[in-house]
Amino acid sequence: MTEFRHWSEVIAEKIVSEKKEPYVIASGITTSGPIHMGTVCEFLYPSALVKHLEEMGYKTRFVFVGDIFDPFDNIPAPLKSFEWLSEHLGKPLSEVPDPYRCCPSYGEHFLNQAVEIMERLDVHPEVLKANELYTKGEYDEFARFFIRNFPRVREVIEQSSMSKRSPDWKDILLPVCEQCGKIATTSVKSFDGDHIEYVCDKDVGYTKGCGYHGWTKISDHRYKLIFRLDWPSRHVFLNVSAEGAGVDHHTKGGTWDTVVAVHRKLFNREPPVGFKYGFVLLHGKKYSKSKGIGLGVYELLELVPPEVVKFVLLRPDLEENKEFDPSSRSLIRAFDEYNRAADLAESGRTDLSRGERKDVAAYRLSTDRRRWRVDFVDLLIHYQVYRDWDYIGQKLDDPEGVSYLSKYVSNWVAMGFVPEEYVFRFKPSKTDRFTEQLKDFATKLSVDMRPEDVHNLVYEVARSSGINPRELFKALYLSLIGKDHGPRLGRLVVAIGIEKVKKTLLDLYG
Ligand SMILES: [Zn+2]
Ligand SMILES: [Zn+2]
Repeated sequence: MTEFRHWSEVIAEKIVSEKKEPYVIASGITTSGPIHMGTVCEFLYPSALVKHLEEMGYKTRFVFVGDIFDPFDNIPAPLKSFEWLSEHLGKPLSEVPDPYRCCPSYGEHFLNQAVEIMERLDVHPEVLKANELYTKGEYDEFARFFIRNFPRVREVIEQSSMSKRSPDWKDILLPVCEQCGKIATTSVKSFDGDHIEYVCDKDVGYTKGCGYHGWTKISDHRYKLIFRLDWPSRHVFLNVSAEGAGVDHHTKGGTWDTVVAVHRKLFNREPPVGFKYGFVLLHGKKYSKSKGIGLGVYELLELVPPEVVKFVLLRPDLEENKEFDPSSRSLIRAFDEYNRAADLAESGRTDLSRGERKDVAAYRLSTDRRRWRVDFVDLLIHYQVYRDWDYIGQKLDDPEGVSYLSKYVSNWVAMGFVPEEYVFRFKPSKTDRFTEQLKDFATKLSVDMRPEDVHNLVYEVARSSGINPRELFKALYLSLIGKDHGPRLGRLVVAIGIEKVKKTLLDLYG
């Protein structure tokens, strides 16, 4: 059997064999709206690579480019109430006002949000802003090179993207219109060295040009290269060793094909190591900021610790689409799987299956140490019974873990996220059916029982008196919590305390 290796190890080894130290791992997104789960992958995956390279003892640099010089092309669903934003459609995101008025621009507001989420997930890249890279002139020599070699550039773009441009197409870069400030609506008429002639005449569906006809210069830094040329240029001046992107960029004729062609045919160098990753899905649909699909990352991080979010996203194969369903049941499952992976990692077992190895690798990438051992459902049940974190910490023999997870449980309760069967209070109340069996059950309860023993005792007592065990379960729930169903009975009885349950039932039916 070949040894299983996590995708981050495989790519890290490829980088080491093909590139030179220090290894520069790049990533970047257009922060055009609230951060969602799909965005998280854009920095989480490269950070896993960086972590591996560093563990192997190599020097790395991890950069994250906020592409906020891109046009503002859509008002995301959660921002629809800011109607005035529509007059700014088509401008660079770094030149659209921040609707919340706390940052210099719209693009920076959501870039800051991304950085805040990175910090909570313990991901710490060097953050660069595309508008500043342009202003500093980082792209200027590339823009002049592309202008000088225009026919060849055009040919490389057409071949690698497998699409013909119109005969008068010269839009290898887009100037910002001096009159209306839009970058989405300009087209280049001519260029010569530093000078670019443009008209602001495009109709891009979400906005229209103002009709202005003007000139700009490369050295004024009021232009942006099209992404197929911007991306490889950035690789050169940042000296990038590897960069990933979603599978949509890696289709035949997609952006990555042009990137590779520009490096090899125009720059005469090898491209960075590329890797591609699948989408994050919710019920089979892509998470999307523009359509407002999926729970926001902020809300999610109120409900589960960052370790669990990272574990869920890092566990599947890189290129696989990942279903991330933020329902209470699937988050409870994620807590369970996380604990199981942590146990496996600590077990030191060497006979792990492929799936178990994946779990252990994802667990190791998700955290530097184990912060809790307690089972999340046990914690939910104990919280309903005792509402006292110190006491629960002692009872479950994990004070540190309980204290770490307590704020998440509190949020589940406050946000109404707790599944219905775990919403209850210990509230003894008498029922008038099956009282003999209830008494029999109470008599046979003994303090050393485990949850499964308690569960089996219900069956035993019901069968010996010829009643349906389900009826006895119901009668027990009614007697203890005043409703006819609840958490698994064995767990519930142990959480309340066997002695206390025994006394309660004997008081009611003895
Ligand atoms: Zn802001
Ligand atoms: Zn204009």
